[in-house]
Amino acid sequence: MTTTHSVHRAVLAFGSNVGERLESLQAAMDALVDAPGVQPLSISPVYETRPFGGPAGSAESKDLSGQDDYLNAVAVIGTDLTPQQLLIRTQAIEQALHRVRAERWAPRTIDVDIIVYDDLQMHDEELTVPHMRAHERPFVLRPWHDIEPEAVLPGRGPIAELLARLPDEGIEERSDLVLQW
Ligand code: ATP
Ligand code: MG
Ligand code: MG
Repeated sequence: MTTTHSVHRAVLAFGSNVGERLESLQAAMDALVDAPGVQPLSISPVYETRPFGGPAGSAESKDLSGQDDYLNAVAVIGTDLTPQQLLIRTQAIEQALHRVRAERWAPRTIDVDIIVYDDLQMHDEELTVPHMRAHERPFVLRPWHDIEPEAVLPGRGPIAELLARLPDEGIEERSDLVLQW
């Protein structure tokens, strides 16, 4: 057996608030590692979170109180794909799972976001890495911190410190729900 070592490490965040939410998260993770170039490393516990759109009080802020709660989780992968190739892969998975792209922050069967890719900091029309809002999202930082407590968000600092500054209401661990590779 040959062992291949991925060149890069990426952290991905998954969310679902429509239909069979746990199944959608699991299906997205299965699809992700089902093709060449992505190796499973770790999967976080599952959290249930109240819908949240944009920084509170900002122009981007949006009342999402009518939406159903999300299940959220984070996965760490090894990959030989470039960030752009990884985005194409995650968007194909979103489409395959019938995500309906109505509007931003609309309910969705699955959302897969690239949180970090190595220590890369980049921004273009399609892709911003690290993810622009990761540092202010408990539903990203909590599950990520569970599996990588020492992790650092490039340009922002240790995730343990970022997390300590955020409110921890509206997010509950669902230890009865488990995802696996
Ligand atoms: P948010 O970005 O606030 O989590 P969202 O996930 O609902 O919102 P989407 O509709 O999934 O937003 O994505 C909108 C666009 O964001 C995508 O077309 C994609 O090109 C872009 N994008 C930029 N950076 C990233 C990233 N790091 N991961 C995923 N998509 C990204
Ligand atoms: Mg998102
Ligand atoms: Mg997204």
